[in-house]
Amino acid sequence: MNEINNSSGSKPFYRRYDLAIVGAGIVGLATAREFLLRQPGLRVVVLEKESAIASHQSGHNSGVIHTGIYYAPGSLKAKACVTGHREMLEFCHTHDISFDLCGKVIVALDESELPRLEELFRRGTTNGVQGLEMIGPERLYELEPYATGAKAIYSPNTGIIDYVKVAHAYAEEIRQRGGEIMTGCEVSLLTSKSGYTLLTTHQSEFEARFVITCGGLQSDKLSQMSGKKSEVQIVPFRGDYYMLRPEKRKMVRGLIYPVPDPRFPFLGVHFTRRMDGEIWAGPNAVLAFAREGYGRWKINPQELGEVLTYGGFWKMARKYWKMGLHEMYRDYIKAAYVKELQRYMPELAGSDLLPGPSGVRAQALAADGRLVDDFLIQHGEHIAHVQNAPSPAATSSLVIARMIADEVNLK
Ligand SMILES: Cc1cc2nc3c(=O)[nH]c(=O)nc-3n(C[C@H](O)[C@H](O)[C@H](O)COP(=O)(O)OP(=O)(O)OC[C@H]3O[C@@H](n4cnc5c(N)ncnc54)[C@H](O)[C@@H]3O)c2cc1C
Repeated sequence: MNEINNSSGSKPFYRRYDLAIVGAGIVGLATAREFLLRQPGLRVVVLEKESAIASHQSGHNSGVIHTGIYYAPGSLKAKACVTGHREMLEFCHTHDISFDLCGKVIVALDESELPRLEELFRRGTTNGVQGLEMIGPERLYELEPYATGAKAIYSPNTGIIDYVKVAHAYAEEIRQRGGEIMTGCEVSLLTSKSGYTLLTTHQSEFEARFVITCGGLQSDKLSQMSGKKSEVQIVPFRGDYYMLRPEKRKMVRGLIYPVPDPRFPFLGVHFTRRMDGEIWAGPNAVLAFAREGYGRWKINPQELGEVLTYGGFWKMARKYWKMGLHEMYRDYIKAAYVKELQRYMPELAGSDLLPGPSGVRAQALAADGRLVDDFLIQHGEHIAHVQNAPSPAATSSLVIARMIADEVNLK
């Protein structure tokens, strides 16, 4: 990777750009690429605090190309996911990135889950998702012989991919079109001047006619840095995965999902085939004690304090404390996690599961305790902040980039 790394004490410098993007996750990179496609010759820089691109959510996810089944018709998520799925596949074809449309089943275990399953089917068809089928136990057995359930939605076009490869392909195109990506470059201040914004990093300063922040887990901090009051606060939710032992990988052919609880924006613990052949089970959703806290014991007292002193957190906690405690119990006690997985795959044993990686979701929480479900972009005069880009933002990254670019006039 030939990004410019600015972390090793290089001399201070000052550069001018038309557009500066903060954050080289999949959304920031897709956005930089989109502007360069629209306006060749535009001076674009992407500033990333880590030493490599896609170091946070874009590099710690399930790797699923979603089709758009779950999302409320008319929402940004629904529109961006259905189109984003198609465009992601086209992008992969033209950029020689492998993916696998391995298909997915969303399984209702018993009668009580059928109304929600049917509602999901209605949503999916309303959103224009192609090829959905409602299937019974026999067809489920044909597709996933180790899974059990009363009924399921089969989505043949759901697929898997490595989003880090996609991010690198976006980065490559940015460089080919004359854009720059600077890693090891943490933005600590955004100051509005007349007609431009000054971006201060530890080593240097940059000036840009327009700034777009795509900071994922830090997105509210970036809004505040520019003097704007963030509409939401990011609360980090960690998701831990287990991995199936290699000799047990045959138990999962594609993707096996539960019927999600409609009160939460998370899809529930699922089985995911990965591009390298591994099978992951997860992620759960527990409050992380640090925004970039990938382990159970990683605590950042300041960040934890910010969560615990946010009124919105306690309003949410009052509504969902039972669910939260249950998730934590399941996180610390492997037997409880296994029990949950066995509901979908009775033959699975605890000894079949090895500890796997974790990801942390940047979940925007409103002051009234509402978990913000849809994508949220805050637009200002010379600056825009992506405030909420949760799943399926990786699938939808090309469309989100277009939505952002449509609102920004850089002529
Ligand atoms: C466990 C998990 C599973 C998921 N599964 C899926 C899935 O299967 N399919 C799907 O479509 N989506 C999935 N998602 C969602 C998807 O990964 C995210 O929506 C997407 O990656 C968001 O991209 P982003 O660029 O907004 O954020 P990120 O990838 O988090 O990037 C933000 C970047 O900003 C940088 N940054 C922050 N602050 C600064 C600063 N001050 N200066 C410079 N740089 C800064 C960070 O270092 C980071 O690199 C999942 C997410 C998680 C966590």
